[in-house]
Amino acid sequence: MQLQPVASHFVDGEYVEDETGTPIDIIYPATGKIIGRVYGATPAILERALASAESAQRQWAKVPGRERGRILARAARMIMERNHELSVLETHDTGKPYQETIAVDATSGADALEYFGGLAGSLTGEHISLGDDWVYTIREPLGVCVGIGAWNYPTQIACWKGAPALACGNAMIFKPSETTPMCALKVAEILVVAGLPKGVYNVVQGLGDVGAALVSDPRVAKVSLTGSVPTGRKVYASAASQMKHVTMELGGKSPLIIFDDADLDNAVGGAINGNFYSSGQVCSNGTRVFVQKGLKEAFIKRLSERLGNVVIGDPLDEATSFGPMVSEAQMNIVLGYMEKGVSEGARLVCGGKRIDRDGFYLEPTVFADVTDDMTIAREEIFGPVMSVLDFETEEEAVLRANATEYGLSAGVFTSDLSRGHRVISALQAGSCFINSYNDAPVEAPFGGVKASGVGRENSKEAIAHYSQVKSVYVRMGDVEAPF
Ligand code: NDP
Repeated sequence: MQLQPVASHFVDGEYVEDETGTPIDIIYPATGKIIGRVYGATPAILERALASAESAQRQWAKVPGRERGRILARAARMIMERNHELSVLETHDTGKPYQETIAVDATSGADALEYFGGLAGSLTGEHISLGDDWVYTIREPLGVCVGIGAWNYPTQIACWKGAPALACGNAMIFKPSETTPMCALKVAEILVVAGLPKGVYNVVQGLGDVGAALVSDPRVAKVSLTGSVPTGRKVYASAASQMKHVTMELGGKSPLIIFDDADLDNAVGGAINGNFYSSGQVCSNGTRVFVQKGLKEAFIKRLSERLGNVVIGDPLDEATSFGPMVSEAQMNIVLGYMEKGVSEGARLVCGGKRIDRDGFYLEPTVFADVTDDMTIAREEIFGPVMSVLDFETEEEAVLRANATEYGLSAGVFTSDLSRGHRVISALQAGSCFINSYNDAPVEAPFGGVKASGVGRENSKEAIAHYSQVKSVYVRMGDVEAPF
């Protein structure tokens, strides 16, 4: 299978190259070997992307919603038909096991295109009666939107941002993370084959400077970033200086609270899904696992047993359930946290080391007896490191769970459903789970509170973040004026 992209960028309906841009090697995380190369966008490429997006958007906004939706739905079907090929590509971009990518990545991108394609024909305003006079509202697109992605879900992020933007009549320029440049190009290619007019969805490569140049361009009306909190602060500030719309999907240090009365195997399963899927590189992970004292030892024992079933290996082997870190740099960051956990006195239950093989593999790692002040309990690690903290009362668990600047996700496992709802309503988080963890269907709003972000992706909520409302007052009688 051809891995090297046809060209670095997809602009104005076609692949374009400019080798004078900053070279970016594409590294397969499972081997550490270079498998391709792209070049960061030059000012000329950015100008072409912005100009084509601006002119294409004006035409796209005039296409009836149902027709826009039909194109998105066609692209969704094509993605599903090519799921195997796209999943193999995603595995090479990220190192995630094929077992995961075939189930989640391209498919969740297709879900978004199908869902927002379905909504596109029903984006209406309202009629507000005022006696004889009336007001009507029009839901209008924003214009040119910029999407900037993280490296953990390159296909999904390209679609989660693109699908609602396009459904509402906007154009998009998407910049993938430099670590995973390949998948978004395929999304752009498929959209055009599905009938999307050229220039409506563009992909440009580059480092943070390319993202920053896009964010500050006055032709851009909205910026949607998936990334870390420090990057979010910079991008938000830059967008705010020109009063642009933003969606910020940022990091987290989410709590997962497990009460004594929880079903043990379900709670362990939730904690595994919320810590080790994608080798822990998931923003919404429940990395602070608060376990009530009565269940703690049984929880750790069962967790250790189930972690013994992990299959670490070649991500392309369908039996593999745990792959490498996305990059050497990320592996070293996570290793640093593993060392901090040990040096600050947490009890290492399992893992804690690099795996002796090619590529950027780390062991799935569990620390117990973690206290709130430890670095591993406070900072986002973005790797396979679970911290187990003990608690006694519900009130205490809620207080400690909320004692963080983050607020992306939260989960609770209990067989007392009243308590489940009560605890979730007290937790400061945007995307929550009861007796489950990390489900992200396109129908559900996704996003954080506090430092974890603003705005929501997915669901009908996303429409509000990719459109604006114009209200029109209509007077049916004469105008009264004071003089
Ligand atoms: P970064 O914040 O480092 O980068 C995110 C994106 O922003 C990259 O494409 C990056 O480009 C770009 N960027 C960096 N600096 C700027 C700038 N000044 N202006 C514009 N763009 C810029 O995040 P990572 O890629 O390391 O991803 C991991 C982070 O993403 C974690 O904190 C994680 O929690 C968060 N995340 C949040 C999710 C959510 O939905 N809430 C989902 C997934 C991840 P480049 O990489 O080329 O430098």
